[in-house]
Parts: sequence; C-alpha cells; structure tokens
Amino acid sequence: MTNQLNETHNPQLRSWIDSANRADSDFPIQNLPFGVFRRAGSEENFRIGVAIGDQILDLTIALQCDVFAEINHAALSHALRAPQLNALMDLGNQVASQVRLALSRALREGAEGAERTATQAQLSAALLAQSEAEYALPAQIGDYTDFYTSIHHATAVGKLFRPDNPLLPNYKWVPIGYHGRSSSIAVSGQKFHRPIGQTMPPNANSPVFGPAKRMDYELEVGAFIGQGNALGSAIDINEAEQHVFGLCLLNDWSARDLQAWEYQPLGPFLAKNFASTISPWVVTIEALAPYRKAWQRDEQDPQPLAYLESPTLRSAGAFDIHLEVWIQTEKMQREGSAAHRLSRSNFSDSYWTISQLVTHHTVNGCNLRAGDFLGSGTQSGPLPEEAGSLLELSQGGKVPMSLSNGEQRIFIEDGDTIIMRGWAEKEGLPRIGFGQVTGTLLTARST
Ligand code: CA
Repeated sequence: MTNQLNETHNPQLRSWIDSANRADSDFPIQNLPFGVFRRAGSEENFRIGVAIGDQILDLTIALQCDVFAEINHAALSHALRAPQLNALMDLGNQVASQVRLALSRALREGAEGAERTATQAQLSAALLAQSEAEYALPAQIGDYTDFYTSIHHATAVGKLFRPDNPLLPNYKWVPIGYHGRSSSIAVSGQKFHRPIGQTMPPNANSPVFGPAKRMDYELEVGAFIGQGNALGSAIDINEAEQHVFGLCLLNDWSARDLQAWEYQPLGPFLAKNFASTISPWVVTIEALAPYRKAWQRDEQDPQPLAYLESPTLRSAGAFDIHLEVWIQTEKMQREGSAAHRLSRSNFSDSYWTISQLVTHHTVNGCNLRAGDFLGSGTQSGPLPEEAGSLLELSQGGKVPMSLSNGEQRIFIEDGDTIIMRGWAEKEGLPRIGFGQVTGTLLTARST
C-alpha cells in the first residue's frame, strides 16, 4: 500500500498560483491530479495536464521548461507528450511519483533563484483556465470491470430484485464484479439519449419494446490501472496499489427496467452499456495517502481468504472520500435555480477495498493493462439517505423524492443533469477534490 508521506504532502505548501491556496479549492498543490485537455471549442491536440487551483498546467510546456530534468527515464518525455495517460501509467507509480515531486517543486511558492523565476514566468504564461478547457478521457480504456463493493447497496437492491434472498451467499467471500463495456465510457459532460430496449411490465405475459422508463445513476469511484501484470501472473495484495495509477468519479448510468428483465442468468448487459461517465481528473493514490482509513470487517462476518488479507490493509486499506450526488433538472436550469443534492456517502464504507479488487481480478492469472478501468460499484452508505442510486432512494420506484424547487423525481427524467462530486479532507490538511462528473439524459431517439 502506498501510505508513505513525503514533501509533496506537506500541508504548509502553497502555490504561486493563488487560486490553489483557497480553502475550498479541489486542486491545491498537494493534489496535482492528471487529465487530458485542450482549449474548449478548438481543434488543438489533446494533451496531458495537471489541475492546480482553477488552472491547468500543460505538461508538454513543463517538459520544455525542463521541469522534469532530474528524472532519469528514457521514455518519460514520450509519455508526457502523448494525447492520453496510458504511456505514463505504464511507466509505473514510481515514475508518476517523481513527476508529481517535480511538479510540486515547480508550482510551490517561495522557490528562489533566477532560474526558478524564469521557469515560473514561462509556466505562468502557459496556464489555461479550467473554465476555458474541454477534456477527453484521461486514458484509452482497454477493459472495464465494474464491481459491487457496497454491501448496503447490494442488500438494498437485492431486496428489491429478490425479496426472499437479498444478499447472495458468495457476497461476503468474493468481490463480485462483471466485465463491462469500455466503448461507451465518456468524460464528464456526456449527453446521451434515453436507451431503447425490451422490458417486461409487471403482470404481463410478454415484453414490450420502447424507451426505458426507469433511468437511474450509480454513484461510483473509478480506478485506473497503472502498470499491468503479465497474463498468467497474479498481483499480490501488498503490491496491488502499485498497479493503480489513481482514482476518479464514475456515474454508471443504469436502465433499471431493462436490467430487471435481462440480468438473469448472466448479469448486466444492455441496461449498463449505453453510457458511463467519468470525471476528467485522476487523483493519484499517492495524493490520497494522508486521507486513508483502517479497513474493517465486522467480526460476525467471514474474514477474507488469505490472498485478500494483509496487515496494511487493516491499518490503512480504505480511502476516506466524501461523495455526493446532485440533480439539476431542465426546469432548474431554465429558471436559474440551484441544483438539488440527492444524497451523500463515503467510500470508506465499502465492503471491499481497491487493493482487494485488483488482487482478486488477477488471482486466476487475468492480466490488467495500463489504462484499464475498475468501477467500485454503487457507493451507498449504511443509512437510507446515503443511497447511491435513485432505485434505493425511491424504494424501488415507489416513493418520490421532493426536490428543492418543488419538483419530484422517482427516476431520471429527460433533460435532467446528474452531478457527482468527491473530495477528501482531514483536520490540519488541505481538502483535495476530484472535481465533478456531470451527464445529461436526452429524449429517446424515435423507435
Ligand atoms: Ca455499477
């Protein structure tokens, strides 16, 4: 596990970019998340940047300014000039850590010397305001696996789909997951049409064909794989996080009525693969080191098998990440009223950790590759109002949610925008955030 603190975590560090020093910034100098961006509406090539305050530092410019001159790695400059993060991810977390250190030194306040001042002036001139940027997927995602790590979500949804048998007996032994589809994953701002398909209405004898009626979101944390493993090899639990480049936010849009009809016996299919949206910035595991928590398993529950167990997992395996879901309806946007918060939860309530997911995924010899993406599964907390989906909040579509402007929702309506946010904070340390992921449901295409 990557829990070592170093000079990049120092809470006293301030940046010469003023907006990074504001207490409410998601991107202080201790964060430095990686993403892929260009000037909005331009035909520029996408390039790798880090978020700092309300700005983006272009790493191709940082490279020209010799910010990474002390890093002795032949493939680094090629990786940093790429239009996606895969090559940097593939260099491994030790190299990413050196890049982070160099950026921290270049962006911090108080650096002295004429040379540093000159570099600062060059970097300063090359910043792009995040408000003027557009983003692409941080990496080309080869394979996407979605897990199911919140026992609160699994139990609540299980009750709705199988009232007599909510939590299946394998749940507490195996991190449950399925292979998803990467082609329909897009970066924040995704707009997509309400999916069309087969559903089986209650008490009907045959299915109907048409637009899905029970559209939902799923509040998830996503993990990008860094350096992969060879086919046939397994990743040890104590090495697992060395293979995770970082985390982001994921909205795993779900059509509940398609899902209910199609999911047995092989699991999710068309209910899940029409759109999935992720936040543009990838917060590294290293940046999250100060915000870790002990991972616990209830004494009444089965304890993990040996390959999914380790002392560091117990002491600091979990991430204390606050998560929120907001809705902005078309009416709210039209009338200029604020978005409404639907729920909040915390990633540390997860039944399985990121390291256990990586280890379990590879225990049979399955190879992960740089840029592969893992979803945590819907992060619902122990309380009903901490549910990470509308299916749970509306108690299976029975109880409408009242929104702040007087509207009601059971499921997502056409024109609704769903916004997810996440951040970590701890007393005496700066808050580091994930930014946000937004997505909008459009009317179904005509059938
Ligand atoms: Ca999911």
